[in-house]
Amino acid sequence: MGSEIYEIDPDLCTECIGHYDEPTCMKVCPIDNTIIHDPAHPESNEALWDKFVLLHHSDKL
Ligand code: SF4
Repeated sequence: MGSEIYEIDPDLCTECIGHYDEPTCMKVCPIDNTIIHDPAHPESNEALWDKFVLLHHSDKL
């Protein structure tokens, strides 16, 4: 929870790579265009995959 709204931590978000084909929060949110990609944190699919591995499988690095 941020000071006024829920905020996604870019250090922990993998855009669901490694789990789902598309960002789950965007898919299930009932309000369109509420959850958007942050232009301040552009990440390639490769970078997102690396983050997924680091967060979930750090014992395999
Ligand atoms: S549901 Fe997926 S895209 Fe949404 S914040 Fe969590 S990891 Fe990121």
